Amino acid sequence: MNTRKKVIAGNWKMNKTSAEGVALAQEIVAAVGKQGAVEVVVCPPFTAIESVGRVLEGSEVRLGAQNLHAEASGAFTGEVSAPMLRAIFATHVILGHSERRTLFGETDEGVNRKTLAALKHQLRPIVCVGETLAEREAGTTLKVVQTQLERGLEGVSREQAASVIVAYEPVWAIGTGKVATTEQAQEVHAFIRGLLVKLFGDAMAQRIRILYGGSMKPANAPELLAQKDIDGGLIGGASLEARSFLELVAAAAK
Ligand code: PEP
Repeated sequence: MNTRKKVIAGNWKMNKTSAEGVALAQEIVAAVGKQGAVEVVVCPPFTAIESVGRVLEGSEVRLGAQNLHAEASGAFTGEVSAPMLRAIFATHVILGHSERRTLFGETDEGVNRKTLAALKHQLRPIVCVGETLAEREAGTTLKVVQTQLERGLEGVSREQAASVIVAYEPVWAIGTGKVATTEQAQEVHAFIRGLLVKLFGDAMAQRIRILYGGSMKPANAPELLAQKDIDGGLIGGASLEARSFLELVAAAAK
């Protein structure tokens, strides 16, 4: 039995106006705002992040962003920096999500710069890795995940590693309703844990949370969350309604 606190993080993507986000956050805080057994995080779009943050004030629910720019400030039109996120009390940031990699050209090197910036400014990076369907079918899943993880975490010190959260998100399972089998997920999670041992030593690797993401729903969550190396979920679709999100929090609390 490990002592890692489970994490349930909602990635709202480009959904919810500020008012809609506030309403959803109010429901979440009312139901789980005081519990501390599970680390609950919501990641609204930038336009809703400050108003949602106000709803979370005084609760145990944490505020996350979906991206950041690696520089602290400057001429980067359309971008948001780590210090700006800290100033509105964000604590987490999703980095290297597959949608950012495939739709916005993010590279492992870019994810690495952002990860280092997040850590420098005391934000917990949720670093996403995962293979496409073609890569899985070609038998290169572990290689792809290894490259993304090692490059993404380059230069992260052992001390900083305690703040890192990894999310394994098979691209073919995101928003498709196709969930990885528990065996497929656990195999990759255990592999990631092994890589973390090599990077940061066994004691630290046993502390780092590795989340599964990809069509996690209340129906499939209990089995996934019971796996030895699955420490929570990064949730897209099911995080957009309080009921399903709260059921996932409850599943993680068991
Ligand atoms: C995600 O985008 O991080 C995700 C896991 O999405 P979904 O739960 O909708 O598959």
